[in-house]
Amino acid sequence: MTPEFDLIARYFTRPQPHTELGIGDDAALIAVPPGHQLAISADMLVAGTHFFADAAPYGIGWKSLAVNISDMAAMGAEARWATLAIALPEIKEAWLAEFSRGFFDCADRFGVSLIGGDTTRGPLTISVQIMGIVPQQQALTRSGAKAGDDIWVSGPLGTAALALAAMQGHYPLTADALAECSVALHQPQPRAALGLALRQLAHSAIDISDGLLADLGHILQASQLGADIRFADIPLSPITRQHIADNAVQSFVLGGGDDYELCFTAPSAKREQIATLGRQLGLSLGVIGQTRAQAGVDVYDADNTRLDIKKTGFDHFQ
Ligand code: ADP
Ligand code: MG
Repeated sequence: MTPEFDLIARYFTRPQPHTELGIGDDAALIAVPPGHQLAISADMLVAGTHFFADAAPYGIGWKSLAVNISDMAAMGAEARWATLAIALPEIKEAWLAEFSRGFFDCADRFGVSLIGGDTTRGPLTISVQIMGIVPQQQALTRSGAKAGDDIWVSGPLGTAALALAAMQGHYPLTADALAECSVALHQPQPRAALGLALRQLAHSAIDISDGLLADLGHILQASQLGADIRFADIPLSPITRQHIADNAVQSFVLGGGDDYELCFTAPSAKREQIATLGRQLGLSLGVIGQTRAQAGVDVYDADNTRLDIKKTGFDHFQ
């Protein structure tokens, strides 16, 4: 056995349900159930850009798959299969063991089979492709929003950006507060069950990877709409709420990336049903505003004055 095959066998080969032919041949074979479409997406994580090169490998493994599952959730698709292309500067068994433990903990939690990939030497880079299934015509897209829809988010928002700012020394947090926030950054929980349930309820959806205003902006652009947002209705974590008077923290909530929550729009007639769904799933869902025919986005604070988005420092994220 060459070392590469040995590595793949040891760290990346696990049982692969829903798979006709898995790891070990030139390609995997899968069958898409009749009446379904295949949803496909990929996300790449580069050391130094998307994570610190010395970050805990468990979290890197978890997150590399979790961010992809989040894309499936945003489409209303059920994540099923993933491939993993990984470039490693050197073979460190302890690192690989922890990376693969994080990856497979996430895979097991969300029912995803790792069915193939590529392993090569190079600057630490992790590229995951994910495939899921969705019944024909039922996928949630960015372009389906209608004027007057409620705008919903799952929350809390801003926690991951707050943790990142604290880790980089750009925002003061106590060690305890940072430890609590950094779970959101290192181990995001993709909203898979929510995405599936929203197929029947939402007009459009996206996952929040680049920040609320940026990602909501993609829905609005694709649907040719604008929006009014009530800042006070955005779900926050207790720590974020403690610091919310600070402009920087407001910018984390509106513009900070890495939350992997869902933002979606739905007719107001579905409001009760969606609130009930949120309670059933144990999620903090909030209606944060409405879409409108007129382009642009206005954000209002609790006493109905318009927030100066530039003053919040949101511009830093654009
Ligand atoms: P090939 O040279 O035909 O591309 P490889 O030697 O790269 O095949 O890989 C052998 C098998 O191991 C293939 O089935 C491939 O999909 C799988 N594989 C390689 N790297 C990984 C990885 N990091 N995770 C999961 N499967 C992998
Ligand atoms: Mg190969």
